[in-house]
Amino acid sequence: MNEAKYIWMDGNFVPWHEAKVHILTHTLHYGNGVFEGTRAYQTEDGLAIFRLQDHTKRLLNSAKIVKIDVPFNQEELERAQVELLRKNEFKGNVYIRPLIFLGYGKMGLYHIGAPVHVAIAAWEWGAYLGEEGLEKGIRVKISSIVRNPVKSTFGKAKAVANYLNSQMAKYEAIECGYEEALMLDEEGFVAEGSGECFFIVRDGVLITPPNDNSLESITQSTVIEIAKERDIPVERRRITRDEVYIADEAFFTGTAAEVTPVREVDGRIIGDGKRGEITKELQEAYFDVVYGRDKGYKHYLTYIEG
Ligand code: PMP
Repeated sequence: MNEAKYIWMDGNFVPWHEAKVHILTHTLHYGNGVFEGTRAYQTEDGLAIFRLQDHTKRLLNSAKIVKIDVPFNQEELERAQVELLRKNEFKGNVYIRPLIFLGYGKMGLYHIGAPVHVAIAAWEWGAYLGEEGLEKGIRVKISSIVRNPVKSTFGKAKAVANYLNSQMAKYEAIECGYEEALMLDEEGFVAEGSGECFFIVRDGVLITPPNDNSLESITQSTVIEIAKERDIPVERRRITRDEVYIADEAFFTGTAAEVTPVREVDGRIIGDGKRGEITKELQEAYFDVVYGRDKGYKHYLTYIEG
């Protein structure tokens, strides 16, 4: 763990090791909490948070879905993240983890009335699926774990509880010698990775499923925007497992995963078994956006000056 100096908790900056909770913290027992994952990059004009407003909006929407009343508004939470990054004086790229959780003071499943807490941690973090993966691509296993069904879980919320499903899929993939899991929905169509959205390329067309069974991903929407700008045709439609096997290219997108090529799925080599041409173009363009080199996307960056 790359420790930083401070964690923001309920409006105060707390030294890293003092940001603690009681063992009877409600969320720890019953799993009702929501979180975000946001990145900040070292640009030529200093550290800048990518799509801070969109991530903070999704955080508040997640809380709304699971009936948690947040004692801070969008503007206060955005300011807290900016100040946290400033105070920690980071030298490298940063991952930001806001968490809204139910604390100590009430037990039982009726969660209304449990105290609501907000914490934001941030630390320096490199490539989630490995630096090598970004260049060479990763090996992926289609999971035996079906993605959280929409009939009984809230996929539009980045809810703590949703991630048991993700963890089991990730565990299975790693134990089987792969690097990431690709999960199918109840009908057998591609849903998403354990913490990423999924794209394939076929005959020059970029294809990614609608967000019926996946988080409304900010990276996915950025990549679609970049592709459209470059006149790469984009289709939002369902993908089957066998279509993945015969794709020309495949990749994952996510704040943590960025744009990570997939070179193999279930023992089938994807395309030439390396980062595909369109994947490479989109990955480079994505990094130009988040690092502020593409001036057309400056509105997505919040600079931490001073
Ligand atoms: N799906 C899941 C399950 C995730 O956890 C994430 C990461 N937040 C994503 C997709 C990608 O979302 P984003 O691009 O907004 O990070």
